[in-house]
Amino acid sequence: MAAQAGSSSAQEDQFLENEEDLFYGAESGWVEARTSCDHLASLSSDLAHIPTPDTACNRCQHPNENWLCLCCKDILCSRFVNKHMLQHYQQSNHCLALSYSDLSVWCFSCDAYLDAQLIPQLRPVYETAYILKFGEAPPFRTV
Ligand SMILES: [Zn+2]
Ligand SMILES: [Zn+2]
Ligand SMILES: [Zn+2]
Repeated sequence: MAAQAGSSSAQEDQFLENEEDLFYGAESGWVEARTSCDHLASLSSDLAHIPTPDTACNRCQHPNENWLCLCCKDILCSRFVNKHMLQHYQQSNHCLALSYSDLSVWCFSCDAYLDAQLIPQLRPVYETAYILKFGEAPPFRTV
């Protein structure tokens, strides 16, 4: 018996096409952050040593409030500057980034903020970044 169902799935055409909307919540203060993410396997294995918060963008030398790629520890500017972090995600698929502006963690693949204090894999790098930025350990948050 020949089972040749000519099923063609058109799902693969549906890749992310709305990059412009990725940071929709960034300016409105607190936005809900996810407490899980399927992409944590791509985190760098050495996040104990990360560039300091005043490191310039590796592409355009924008001086501050850049993003740290949590996959390769590149420092790249935000979409409000020259979008180098966004371009990095589009080119390398590194989807996890920490903002040195407010220490929020964004997952491009989830299209969402991640709660770095509640996700065990993110908490160490969040604390490291916090110490680099403020010179002291972050306060414990009561949930
Ligand atoms: Zn840049
Ligand atoms: Zn990267
Ligand atoms: Zn994710």
